[in-house]
Amino acid sequence: MDMAEMAVGRGFETYEEIEEAVKRLENEHYHPFRRFNSQSVKEYNQRRENTGSNLRLAESLKFAFVSYRCVHYGEPRKRGKGVRPTQHHFALKCQAELYVSYNHHARKFEVQKCNLEHCHPIGPEVLPHYPFKRRLAGDELKEIEDLVTLAPKLKLVCMKSSQRCL
Ligand SMILES: [Zn+2]
Repeated sequence: MDMAEMAVGRGFETYEEIEEAVKRLENEHYHPFRRFNSQSVKEYNQRRENTGSNLRLAESLKFAFVSYRCVHYGEPRKRGKGVRPTQHHFALKCQAELYVSYNHHARKFEVQKCNLEHCHPIGPEVLPHYPFKRRLAGDELKEIEDLVTLAPKLKLVCMKSSQRCL
């Protein structure tokens, strides 16, 4: 997929097409996006009903909107201060995100927000180490966590090792 294809205003006919595009962003361009938030058509229609609106979306669309964020979204863990939920293990305040919602005027899904800039390296040398790519035992997980914390330095290491090959 051409990177230019994922941009604000890009249209999708179905939710499956969105998922497919996000999967390709991960597999071909190494963006570690995970689904972050969504509103089902059911919830959307219920809300419309509650507000007296006649507008309804077809159940087959499945979602009124869906958003994705980088696995490194969120506030970094503060050392020695309480226990944070599991999903914050990799938090690096990364702002990369996608937000796609159904535009009932255009009768298609449209990308409303598209930020593909990460605050950490992405690439084939980093992606396979994420826990959603491998099943990890506790020790290994800690190791990867440290690795990800050191992510900005990792790029340098990769550069050095490639220089060595030349
Ligand atoms: Zn990121």
